[in-house]
Amino acid sequence: MNENDLPSRLRAAGVRPSAQRMAVAEYVLTTDEHPSAEQVLTRVTKRWPYLSRATVYNTLNLFVREGLLRQLVLAEGNVVFDPKLERHHHFIDDATGRIEDVHWDAVKVGDAQLDGYSVREYMVVLRGRKVRRPTVTAKQPTAKQTVKSPPPSASASSVRRETKKSKEQGRT
Ligand SMILES: [Zn+2]
Repeated sequence: MNENDLPSRLRAAGVRPSAQRMAVAEYVLTTDEHPSAEQVLTRVTKRWPYLSRATVYNTLNLFVREGLLRQLVLAEGNVVFDPKLERHHHFIDDATGRIEDVHWDAVKVGDAQLDGYSVREYMVVLRGRKVRRPTVTAKQPTAKQTVKSPPPSASASSVRRETKKSKEQGRT
């Protein structure tokens, strides 16, 4: 999101882009951090120390009311703000609490049709930990290549045979 587009975005939502609102918008409408109101306050007042807590909170509420920002209740007492308006899921890291966006198509969800309920929206909150892709150490490649080289249908014995054969070929 280009920061220059923010005033017109605010105006399009019927919000007058005052300096104070722009100060809040610059952070909260462009971040992917899913901050709480307190985190927004900390971030914004770092750059704009004159902004009061009330102003920041009121601006957040205004943005939510006017559809510029989504308010997510991911757990009791854990309310965060999300400027990404298109539907998506969330992953919460157990260790760091960091909330990350998950592409809508990455999770298969059935039809959210409930008898007697009118569903406004839904999302999946995934929890767990981020695992690094295993890094290939110096020892692994040789072992893996031996197993990988024959076609998938090859049995273990044929692998050994092939390995032996190639060794013999190498000698001659
Ligand atoms: Zn999000």
